[in-house]
Amino acid sequence: MTPQEALQKYFGYSKFRHQQEAIIQHVLNKQDVMALMPTGGGKSLCYQLPAVLLNGLTIVISPLIALMKDQVDSLNVSGIPAAFLNSAQTPEEQRHLVEKLKHNQVKLLYLAPERLFGQENKLVPFLKTLNVVQIAIDEAHCISQWGHDFRPEYLMLAQLKNEFPNVPVIALTATADKLTQKDILEKLNLHRPAVFVSSFNRANITYRVIPKKSSFKQLISFLKERPDESGIIYCLSRKSTEDLAADLKDEGFAAEAYHAGLNNEVKAKNQEAFLRDDVKIIVATIAFGMGINKSNVRYVVHVDLPKNIEGYYQETGRAGRDGLASEALLLYSPGDAGKLQHFARIEGNEEQSRIMLNKLNDMVKYCQLQSCRRQYLMNYFDEAFPPNCGSCDVCLTEFKRFDGTLIAQKALSAVSRLNERFGVNYVIDFLRGSKNEKIREEHKQLKTYGIGADISKVDWQRYIRELVTLDYLLVTGDGYPVLKLTNQSSLVLKGIQKVEFIETQTTEEHHTEAAPPHEAELLSRLKNTRRDIAELENVPAYIIVSDATLLEMATYLPQNLDELRLISGFGDVKLARYGRELLQPVKDYCKAKGLESKIAYKSPKRERKAKTERPARAPRSGTDTRTETFNLYRQGKSAIEIAAARGLSQVTIESHLSHFVQTGDLDVKELVPETKLPVIIEAVENYGAERLAPLKEILGDAYTYGEIKAVISWMNKS
Ligand code: ADP
Ligand code: ZN
Repeated sequence: MTPQEALQKYFGYSKFRHQQEAIIQHVLNKQDVMALMPTGGGKSLCYQLPAVLLNGLTIVISPLIALMKDQVDSLNVSGIPAAFLNSAQTPEEQRHLVEKLKHNQVKLLYLAPERLFGQENKLVPFLKTLNVVQIAIDEAHCISQWGHDFRPEYLMLAQLKNEFPNVPVIALTATADKLTQKDILEKLNLHRPAVFVSSFNRANITYRVIPKKSSFKQLISFLKERPDESGIIYCLSRKSTEDLAADLKDEGFAAEAYHAGLNNEVKAKNQEAFLRDDVKIIVATIAFGMGINKSNVRYVVHVDLPKNIEGYYQETGRAGRDGLASEALLLYSPGDAGKLQHFARIEGNEEQSRIMLNKLNDMVKYCQLQSCRRQYLMNYFDEAFPPNCGSCDVCLTEFKRFDGTLIAQKALSAVSRLNERFGVNYVIDFLRGSKNEKIREEHKQLKTYGIGADISKVDWQRYIRELVTLDYLLVTGDGYPVLKLTNQSSLVLKGIQKVEFIETQTTEEHHTEAAPPHEAELLSRLKNTRRDIAELENVPAYIIVSDATLLEMATYLPQNLDELRLISGFGDVKLARYGRELLQPVKDYCKAKGLESKIAYKSPKRERKAKTERPARAPRSGTDTRTETFNLYRQGKSAIEIAAARGLSQVTIESHLSHFVQTGDLDVKELVPETKLPVIIEAVENYGAERLAPLKEILGDAYTYGEIKAVISWMNKS
């Protein structure tokens, strides 16, 4: 079997991600490897797939029991025999495991490092009697004192290469820090290792920082918008995690606290409840997270300032392992920075204090950025990145300003010429040199008539609103609103006062990129079915199949097992075990709603590519992608169908189509029912066109973003 075939058969994926394929090839060639990949990048597959292909035992060193259990469950569910050895097992269980190992019935054995090399341990001699074909070291940065998760027991792994000189070792970590990487290579004594570094960008995470004002209120409003989603809230102190969890419970949220001071039983209970989605929110100190494999964490909130970028990035990285859109929110107050500075000073260790203060400084800088946060993060980890990611708060809301003095002068002089006796629409028509008979003949003779013809009606509305806000114009009049000059207007007209305008925000692709066209109700039914299966199997729900897999199902509506096989995440065993049960809700739903399979629109390329791996502002040529959409449209496909076929969101497709409304290639009436047209036009005239969201809110559910965009494009058409 080739790696490619095994990928489909055992894991249900059609394509390798990042450098998985090359890494796997190296292991199969018995070479040592160090693989650096961001959280959620797919590190596990790099040793799990060779383990399936190689005829022998793979030993996996992993720091945490919770993590091992999760991985083992997940492998077993996919039909790959895996086991772990830990101190909680009874002698009986251990003997049973040893038997299985002797008979070659286990492919992957998970161990903590101290099990392997702890005192009075006969494990290594025993393992040497087995056919060990690969050793994987997960969370390899734990070996480095420079890292943030140093675990002394990892140092024992230096002996590995001596004990198993001919077995390829693969070290894996999500730590991007150069010093740590160097340390890992040295300490593990890897033999001529091949090093693979993937981009650390987590394109599916949106980064936001907001000023911390009344954090609880801010938090509640954030959480209320995401009632069904799982998230982690990080606090600085143990006490505040408990207080906050209690307060959240009072507000009706399913939240629990987690910190190193809780007793083991409580910790295990809370963690387990979170993994199983019984608890939606974990309020934790940084003690929580490593080894949490939960793939559907939708948000990570920092209510206190993290101490450094490394930690912050690691913590936010726990969101969105499944590749679906996720959020990182940080509440920043300068006061927090002050407090942390105090902690960063270590008595008698100048050097260490200086390093920690510098790191804190970098963290504060991040919070105060006026430029792309993702770029800053990537640069921090020595990775180049373009200045506009399109999915951090700065990129999403940054308004570019430009000198609008000339535009302002045109508007003000028009108002003046018209003797301050006309309303906005008349002034704009006058500026644009409208041939409309409403414009009086005498006005058409004025020099100002038509001086603003180069600017669209919508833009004029915006500029005039802005001039009103800036106090250079006034709207008054009883009954009929009329534009008047203010006592500041002359400053602009004389050129003494400059005016700045905000550039129109390009709304394209920003709004609901996160929402591909899927059947929401079906998705929730599928989640219920999955929960039922998970309860029977006694594993967390996401071990059965990931949220991303269910989302694909709710999008492409597979009707039989052959179609289901095309959904990412269904390997042979999962298909056989859970396929029928998961198909049932889809079939029922489609029957009730008269829907058909859309699997034909699923190109294998989609494989989460569209969302996860595309650098957020990929240099896709704007014209080409639009034309491609347009051609499909001309072939009679609907926006939804094109979205599915192209692996783009419906919103994106609609904005492509709007473009052709503006160029005149497409009649607006093809996209917007005639009855809706005047209503949208009126809304745009009243509220402007620079922000779609408020328009959508005013117009209500019956009007789509696509329709609104199409009308704006049409109004912009000169
Ligand atoms: P990491 O250990 O790097 O944080 P994981 O190994 O947990 O990441 O993988 C994250 C998710 O991505 C898992 O749900 C995994 O099954 C999935 N995954 C891994 N490789 C692929 C692939 N080639 N195609 C699609 N999904 C993948
Ligand atoms: Zn950005």
